[in-house]
Amino acid sequence: MADCAPDVYRIGVLSVHGEKNDTMNQWLPTAEYLSTNIPNTTFEVIPLDYDEVTLAIANEDIEFFYVNPMVYVEMARLHGAGRIATFQPTWNNSSYTGLGGVIFTRSDRDDINSLQDLKGASFMAVSENSFGGFLVPMGELKNSGIDHKKDLGELTFGQTHDKVVLSVINGDVDAGSVRTGALEKMVLEGSIDIKDIKVLDQNEYVDYPLLVSTDLYPDWMFGKVASTPETISNKVSIALLSMPPDSNAAIALDSTGWSVPASYSPADNLMKDLRVSLYVDYGKVPPAQLLVQYWYILVLVIMLFVIVEVHSRLKLEKAKKARLEESNDLKDLFTDIMRHDLMNPVHVIKGFSDVLYSKETDIEKKESLKIIIEQTDHLIAMIGSASKLAKLESNTDVEFEVQDIGNILWMVADSFSLAFAEKDMKLDFRSCGEYPSHVNNIIEDVFSNLISNALKYSPRGSTVKIEVLDEGDSWKIMVTDEGDGIPDGIKPHVFERFKRADKKGIKGSGLGLAIAKRIVEIHNGSLGIEDNPSGSGSVFWVMLKKA
Ligand code: ADP
Repeated sequence: MADCAPDVYRIGVLSVHGEKNDTMNQWLPTAEYLSTNIPNTTFEVIPLDYDEVTLAIANEDIEFFYVNPMVYVEMARLHGAGRIATFQPTWNNSSYTGLGGVIFTRSDRDDINSLQDLKGASFMAVSENSFGGFLVPMGELKNSGIDHKKDLGELTFGQTHDKVVLSVINGDVDAGSVRTGALEKMVLEGSIDIKDIKVLDQNEYVDYPLLVSTDLYPDWMFGKVASTPETISNKVSIALLSMPPDSNAAIALDSTGWSVPASYSPADNLMKDLRVSLYVDYGKVPPAQLLVQYWYILVLVIMLFVIVEVHSRLKLEKAKKARLEESNDLKDLFTDIMRHDLMNPVHVIKGFSDVLYSKETDIEKKESLKIIIEQTDHLIAMIGSASKLAKLESNTDVEFEVQDIGNILWMVADSFSLAFAEKDMKLDFRSCGEYPSHVNNIIEDVFSNLISNALKYSPRGSTVKIEVLDEGDSWKIMVTDEGDGIPDGIKPHVFERFKRADKKGIKGSGLGLAIAKRIVEIHNGSLGIEDNPSGSGSVFWVMLKKA
């Protein structure tokens, strides 16, 4: 009857390469013991290597397993494996507790006497997954300041304990490590003479019968996979803990049976410390997680950065503004002094000079007075221009309104009609349509200066032509004269303050074009100069944006 068929349970036993048969032989009595002691059950032993056993536990292809502390910790953490009993080894018919590693070299290696001497040495361990034969010894090396990844000469793996021991004795490697008991077992088998071995940094523990170089850890674990029911695992636990030391099962495993499961946190800590197995990335936080974990710090840092940045900018701006305000205040003060405190006395001088000139009969004195009047006029013009420029330079608050540039040009040109007539010159301005632009009335000064210069620097009888061209989004106003023109080397400088080209006895302040340039700048326009294409004279042009 199906109901009476015994339940089959599989025990996956970790067995290193080449030792699976031995494992089977050692474990069959235990399987038999369990099958006998737990009614209606059959236990099977499956020797598995590291990859196989971890896969079987993860996939729950087996119900029970027997593994070293490292694999147990890994399986417990990753796959919810549970503990049942810890192996209880025996030596010379008495039981002892603890699993460690032995680090050794050949006894005739006088150059290697402690773990410190292993820097740069070639080293063989059992396998990367061997707890007592690799992990524990590497922990001990680390405690002695030797990082096995960096400080050893070459690290190789023998895969079996015997291979490691023989490689060291044969001198194939400088030193090696195996789990506790491996050396004694080989001595017992007669395969090595212990005199050929020098154990490094040997530790002595009370009631510990084996050679050991390291701390002691709990022994191997009999465990269950996550899905194994409590009913059966409890029965297995009771059976193992009550296994008689003289049973076939215990003897075959070189044990006195099993003890209640030990704490595996020392093994867990060692794995963390060495960053192995599931702890390879321990302590390393991936960038995305870092962001999630520490977003508030990041936000805080960014906020701090922004605050500091804004604060220093504000401070700079404030200082800049203060300097600007200071220099503007100075300029305004200077402008006011020129306009009032200089202009007033000059006007008084001019007034009295005019009166004296009109009353004077002496020709010589009259001539002197005329010079005083002319120079006073010049002074008045200079003061007027300088104060105007100073005002314009500090003034950016100019209001604009749409005006017809053609109309402004007409008015300005008209104001010069008498002067042109006096010099027998012709002012040619033909407007066709309207030229609307956003301008302030100060733009008149620009046209006035260009026309006045054209008048001043042109010969009698010549013509000054004013045109407005459509240049896409701008109007180009051109004032063309037939004077001597301006040499190329001088052209860029005539817009600078007080720069005058060949004066030819013509009066001027040297400020007119500088003022014109500033006014055009305020209008976001441009001002330039070219040679008159007809051969003599200049073309001064102004570009103003269309409205
Ligand atoms: P000012 O005419 O009072 O000297 P401006 O700044 O108006 O000052 O002109 C600067 C200089 O540019 C003038 O001194 C003159 O040498 C030169 N200049 C200006 N316009 C003309 C022109 N139409 N033809 C020849 N030279 C000119």
